[in-house]
Amino acid sequence: MVYLMDFEEKRKRLVESLKSRDFLTKPSVIKAMLKVPRHKFLPEGAISSAYIDSPLSIGMGQTISAPHMNAMMCELLELKEGDKVLEVGTGSGYHAALCAEIVAPENSLNPGHVYTLERHLELAESARENLSNAGYANYVTVIHGDGTLGYPKEAPYDKILVTASSPKKVPPPLKKQLKIGGLLCIPTGSKEWGQDLYIVTKKKDKFESKRITGVRFVPLIGEWGFPE
Ligand code: SAH
Repeated sequence: MVYLMDFEEKRKRLVESLKSRDFLTKPSVIKAMLKVPRHKFLPEGAISSAYIDSPLSIGMGQTISAPHMNAMMCELLELKEGDKVLEVGTGSGYHAALCAEIVAPENSLNPGHVYTLERHLELAESARENLSNAGYANYVTVIHGDGTLGYPKEAPYDKILVTASSPKKVPPPLKKQLKIGGLLCIPTGSKEWGQDLYIVTKKKDKFESKRITGVRFVPLIGEWGFPE
């Protein structure tokens, strides 16, 4: 019990720090960051660092993003109740749970849904388990596959987030599967350094993109990503 309260207290402090640094402003995102238990998405050895604002290793050479990056992407996407969301790069499942908490809050009469794609089978399976342990199994569907192809079966999406860095441009299938008026958040650039985070809006006859900041993500690997 003391242990659990400890996590909640640490999570509150992390949220306060993200608010004071202007990474968190929207009430729905703040609520989700306060609620989703990040420690339930981490391997045993990383649990004590769950509420430090830092990326952490989740196995298979992959990382869970730092909480300020999760917050920033949720805010940029203007996620709202009822949204249908596609995530490329499930990893631990934490970011998908955050999105689910915003688009399908408790007692929602109009719950949205998150579809999330992961190329590593082991990670897809452990993410499913993490999401189920944290209570998000009904609102997040984890699919094992190449996310650069999107998930046409459920398209179009209100919002798309890519949590691995794409080589220079947005994979065309993702552009196609975004609703008109929809938003897509993606890091692009080189495989290691020199990446930038963009927010892209799909208009009726064009895409508008805005550079937000420099970032560092693991590479997006797949048909429209970097080669394996
Ligand atoms: N959003 C995650 C962190 C993702 S790390 C979280 O909250 O934990 C990026 C993930 O993208 C890694 O797990 C990596 O295996 C995955 N990835 C890279 N290229 C991919 C692709 N083409 N399709 C699906 N997943 C991919």
